[in-house]
Amino acid sequence: MAHPRSIQPSLSRTFRRWLAPAGRRLLGTLVRVATTEPVVALTFDDGPHPLYTPHLLDLLERYHARATFFLLGQHAVGQRDLVARMATTGHAIGNHTFTHIRMPQTPRWQRWRELWLARRALAPFASALFRPPYGGQSYGSRVDALLFGYEVVGWSYHIEDWVAQPPDRLAERLLAQMQPGSIVLLHDRLVNPRDPAAVARTPLLTALAQVLAQVGTRYRFVTVPELIRAGTPVRVPWFRPAL
Ligand SMILES: [Zn+2]
Repeated sequence: MAHPRSIQPSLSRTFRRWLAPAGRRLLGTLVRVATTEPVVALTFDDGPHPLYTPHLLDLLERYHARATFFLLGQHAVGQRDLVARMATTGHAIGNHTFTHIRMPQTPRWQRWRELWLARRALAPFASALFRPPYGGQSYGSRVDALLFGYEVVGWSYHIEDWVAQPPDRLAERLLAQMQPGSIVLLHDRLVNPRDPAAVARTPLLTALAQVLAQVGTRYRFVTVPELIRAGTPVRVPWFRPAL
């Protein structure tokens, strides 16, 4: 009886100290960075969009803000100049699959194909970042991302920008939850929109202009890789069906 008692605390201590952090590093999903620096990562999914994305890039440039774009391979292929502009102006680019699949419901061979095609479409501009469409992720798809060498990036909060809302409301929601180390989920394009009235990104661009003007001196808007370097990355087990 003495034996299990003596071995148990040391195993659980080992787990807490080494195995759990290593597991989170390998199989966790980045949701924020613990930091006292006033840095925030704005992330934009599903683009690029031929009309809205250039406006967004102009806006970010005006406020010296950088962002991270999780691009769809199928949207990037015809817009290489736009993807190149993102990269050369200091933004980060990540993989968001080729056609916006639901990872947990998709067979492995097809997941690999989607990751591979998008990776090829985004080369040589992308960083080793991946965001699963709809936030959907299974153990199997997380292992795929690991094999592809990706940091999986979730989010700290979103403002439901896939639902039509006036700019003031979007700005208010953006500011309400913003804190040092936040990763914010936004969209510069909507695929498979549930609310057709939300397809236009103009209200979001107006809201972003308000927010950048208001807190642009209080916060620095940086890319996800820059955010990671500014503090301690917080990775959590994130295995759930698509949103
Ligand atoms: Zn998406």
